[in-house]
Amino acid sequence: MAVTINGREIAEDVVSKVKLFAAELIKDSGITPGIAVVIVGEDPASQVYVASKGRKARECGFHSEQHTLSAETSEEDLVALVEKLNADPQIHGILVQLPLPKHIDSGRIIQTISPDKDVDGFNFINVGKLGTGEIGTAFVPCTPTGVMLLIERINGRDLSGLNAVVIGRSNIVGKPIFNLLLAHNATVTIAHSKTQDLASICRTADILVAAVGRSQMVKADWVKPGATVIDVGVNRIPAPERGEGKTRLTGDVDFEGVSEVAGAITPVPGGVGPMTIAMLMVATLVAAYRSVGKNPPRF
Ligand code: NDP
Repeated sequence: MAVTINGREIAEDVVSKVKLFAAELIKDSGITPGIAVVIVGEDPASQVYVASKGRKARECGFHSEQHTLSAETSEEDLVALVEKLNADPQIHGILVQLPLPKHIDSGRIIQTISPDKDVDGFNFINVGKLGTGEIGTAFVPCTPTGVMLLIERINGRDLSGLNAVVIGRSNIVGKPIFNLLLAHNATVTIAHSKTQDLASICRTADILVAAVGRSQMVKADWVKPGATVIDVGVNRIPAPERGEGKTRLTGDVDFEGVSEVAGAITPVPGGVGPMTIAMLMVATLVAAYRSVGKNPPRF
C-alpha cells in the first residue's frame, strides 16, 4: 500500500520556514518581503485565489498589496501599474492573476513584469533560464516547484538513474516539471494527447506526474510497482451520492486503485494543491533575498 504524501502538512512546514527566514531578513537587512497581486475584473474563482494569496503572505510576515481593477481597465493602464510596481522598492514579487479580460494581451502584461519580480516564472527570461538549466537565478512556476519538493521528500534531490514520465505539456505545468526533473538528473519522457500507448510509457516511470485535467485516467495497471505518483489534476465531477446536484474534486489518477501499486502517491485534494501557494511565498522570499544580494535559503 502506497504512502500518501500529505501536501497540506508539507506546505505548512514550508510556510513556517518562510516565516523564520522572512523574520531573519527583516532583522538583518531591514527589508520586509513584499508581494503585489493584481486582479482585473470580478471572476469569483480568481477573487478567492487572490484573497488566499494575500492572507498567506500576511501570515508569513510579508508586506502584501492587492490591486483590484475593473473589468474595463485598459491594457495601457495595466501596463502602467505593472511598471510602477516594477519600480517600487517595497515590492519584490508581482503576480497578475490570470485569466485577464479578453481585450488585454496577457502575453504583453507578463513580459512587462520585471524578470527579478516575476514570482510566477512566466516571463521569457525566466522560462529561458529554466530551459537552459540556470535554475539558481530563475523564477519557476509555483505548482511545478511544489511538485518537485514533494518528489524530493520521497526520492531525494538527486534523481540519477530514475525514469520520470510527465503527462501534460502545458507551459505552466507540464513543461516546467519536465525541465525541473531533468535538472535533477532524472531521465524524462513528456507525454501528451498525441502520445501512442500512454499506458506502456507510464509503466516505465519510477516517478509519474499526471497534469492533464481528465478525471482518474491513470489506472493501477499503468503504474510500476513502487513508483512515486504525483497527481496535479483538479477535476470537478458529479457526486450524486452526496445529494442532488453535488460535486466533488478528483485528480487525474485513480487514487484507490493506484494506491495498491505505487510506493507513494498524492491525494486530490490535499496533495499538490496546497503546495502552490506555499511555493509562491518561497518565491517572494527568494526575490527579497536576491534584492539585497543575499543568498536565498533552500527549501
Ligand atoms: P492544459 O489543459 O493546459 O494541458 C493539459 C495537457 O494534457 C496538454 O498537454 C494535453 O496535451 C494533455 N492531454 C490532454 N488529454 C490527454 C490525453 N488523453 N492523454 C495524454 N495527454 C493529454 O492544463 P494545465 O497544464 O494547465 O493543467 C493540468 C491539470 O492540472 C488541470 O487539471 C488543472 O486544473 C491542474 N492544475 C492544478 C494546479 C494545482 O495547484 N494543483 C495548478 C495548475 C493546474 P496536448 O498538449 O497535446 O493538448
